[in-house]
Amino acid sequence: MTDVDYCVVGGGFAGLTAALRLKQAGRSVALLEARDRLGGRTFTEVRDDGTWIDRGGAWIGPGQDRIYALMDEFGVPSYKQYTDGEAMMVVDGKQHRYTGTIPWTMSPWAAMNLGAVFVELGQMCKSVPIEAPWAAKDADEWDKITLADWLDSNVLSKPAYELLDTAIAGCYTSAASEVSLLFVLYQMASGGGPGFVLGVKDAAQDARPVGGMGAIYRPMAAQIGDSIRLSQPVRHIDQDANGVTVRSDGMTVHARRVIVAVPLAIASQIRYDPMLPVDRSFLHQRMPSGSIFKISVVYDEPFWRRDGLSGQSAKPGSPATVTIDACTNTARPGVLCVITEGPIAREIGQLDEAERRKAILGELVERFGDKAGSPVDYIEQNWSVERYSGGGMLSHAPTGVLTEFGHALRKPCGRIHWAGTESSAAMCGWVDGAIRSGERAAIEVMEHETATVA
Ligand SMILES: Cc1cc2nc3c(=O)[nH]c(=O)nc-3n(C[C@H](O)[C@H](O)[C@H](O)COP(=O)(O)OP(=O)(O)OC[C@H]3O[C@@H](n4cnc5c(N)ncnc54)[C@H](O)[C@@H]3O)c2cc1C
Repeated sequence: MTDVDYCVVGGGFAGLTAALRLKQAGRSVALLEARDRLGGRTFTEVRDDGTWIDRGGAWIGPGQDRIYALMDEFGVPSYKQYTDGEAMMVVDGKQHRYTGTIPWTMSPWAAMNLGAVFVELGQMCKSVPIEAPWAAKDADEWDKITLADWLDSNVLSKPAYELLDTAIAGCYTSAASEVSLLFVLYQMASGGGPGFVLGVKDAAQDARPVGGMGAIYRPMAAQIGDSIRLSQPVRHIDQDANGVTVRSDGMTVHARRVIVAVPLAIASQIRYDPMLPVDRSFLHQRMPSGSIFKISVVYDEPFWRRDGLSGQSAKPGSPATVTIDACTNTARPGVLCVITEGPIAREIGQLDEAERRKAILGELVERFGDKAGSPVDYIEQNWSVERYSGGGMLSHAPTGVLTEFGHALRKPCGRIHWAGTESSAAMCGWVDGAIRSGERAAIEVMEHETATVA
């Protein structure tokens, strides 16, 4: 039995931030992490040649002030995402190379349709209060329909539909028919609108920390020190008037309060005694994650840059749905990141690794030429089968969930407080949101001390 002021469950960015801020405030903490590594949905692997590969969350953007503050705290610089050259869209078997946001060569009608939808989504997002999206004027109407329902009524051009379906539903790593329109609008608003979510330059993929996300979470962990216990999946959380008792496979921790910082999609795997209030418990059952493969294909050099390409490409329905340049700040070796999301990720998950590699490299050759077929390394991460993530990138709300259960997202349940990117009003779904949630939860538990003393 370990006795501490506070227990934190989960060593992703939310849990690490909560533990760090509590330690810095002089409190004793135990952080129990299920895996044998930290970082959660971020995972930076350092190869023998020193190249680092982010197998999960990687990019940062303007407005993500809390991650930038943490990087300043630990002396981690950032570098800009490579965006020179042309991006590529493959629609109806035809390649379109373009600069800017919209591939105008596709067809004027499709391009206009795309542009109009962006404007419309941006307007709708503006009316969603991120602290309480269920209070938006049209919340009830928008929470009754899925993203697919809305696209069906608003996107008339087939190529525009396919691109929007890939781009927007892709963010939720699910089919458009699975996700509530209100949730989509809320999550976009939480980052500042569709331009931020879907963009690269000056948007969500604007930059990266030098050294990857691990360059941030490793020094955080070093400062938290031996309060971190790895390979401790928490199974039970009991609470009573004296505090909480948190039991993992190998430890029991007694604390005043606990911060649970695990994805909503798997929060119900912990047994809570007494049972959680119905709305919180049902929220856990109703916010699933989607499927995502992130594949890093490593070459001697980023050859696509010499060919005038940025490395960004999209082909709806393909096993390599989107690609983006993922080189480190030294630009050597060349790293091309392939992201495959939603139904296609589940489909390629059925293939064995050799078949999948063949399919992915075939797609890259089609887009980037023969050189793309001979990488020096190929590293894939299937987040859909990660037991302690429950999928990726984030848990989303199907129809009816935000309006019925959203109010329970951050509300503590007695001595149990909730962190995790899904509980952050701002930057929900990003690492920055996770950090914000950890900082909020740390303040929340300490505010109870003041209340008790008063
Ligand atoms: C492929 C991919 C790409 C992404 N790209 C980006 C990006 O470019 N930029 C960006 O900002 N975000 C990105 N994200 C999202 C980002 O990674 C997440 O928002 C963020 O990492 C979530 O942090 P968290 O602390 O809330 O949750 P997590 O990182 O999921 O941390 C939860 C932790 O809890 C642990 N845990 C689970 N159950 C238990 C238990 N019972 N007991 C103890 N521990 C438990 C887990 O092992 C994990 O370490 C991406 C995610 C994925 C998967």
